[in-house]
Amino acid sequence: MPFSANDSVYVLPPPALPSVAVVGTRQYFPVRRIYCVGRNYAEHAREMGGDPSREAPFFFIKPADAIVADGGVVPYPAHTSDFHYEAELVVAIGGDGAHLTTEQAKAAVFGYAVGLDMTRRDLQAQFKKGGKPWDMAKGFDHSAPCSAIVPVNQCGHPIDARITLQHNGEIKQDARISDLIWSVPELLANLSNFIRLQAGDLVFTGTPAGVGPVERGDQLIAAVEGIGQVCVRIE
Ligand code: MN
Repeated sequence: MPFSANDSVYVLPPPALPSVAVVGTRQYFPVRRIYCVGRNYAEHAREMGGDPSREAPFFFIKPADAIVADGGVVPYPAHTSDFHYEAELVVAIGGDGAHLTTEQAKAAVFGYAVGLDMTRRDLQAQFKKGGKPWDMAKGFDHSAPCSAIVPVNQCGHPIDARITLQHNGEIKQDARISDLIWSVPELLANLSNFIRLQAGDLVFTGTPAGVGPVERGDQLIAAVEGIGQVCVRIE
């Protein structure tokens, strides 16, 4: 028996749309795609053995259904023994556009959230060394925990907010959004030269220094002052 939605007929039931709650409402932000930026804080670029100069930002993606809501569980994945947290400011896109100026990019922001770019660090190192794609180090199931989104008309554009990561109650990452090598408008403008930004896209803006490994049973809390926090347990 065929399945129908939006006047189309499908051979399988259409998958549920991944989404993130919007703070203070009973509404959800539908997640279309997840883009992430690599090395966007100088100290983290150094700890990864890179050069923190303003080389052009580079991007990678995670599947939209990698989202894990606040209070959720992240299963310790197969094929790693060095599973890392990366606390990041997340931008939720509410408009569409390609080749945006920084001002246009800023205007396309729907709101902000806090996310975790969960990473198989050992695989990532192996792939980098072999010149292979990072996908299985970055874009796997449950690899994108994300807090509820705060609309920009409530929180403004965070410029100098504190970003922290607590691992079992101990602060391991502690930086400020002003430490970003590429600011949010600059990042979005740059990304929009590669792809057309679309409403529903999330952009993870990079992590500060202090990334590290987790074990089963650990608790992670990533927070950005004025935005909120996301808490997950590794299982
Ligand atoms: Mn990251």
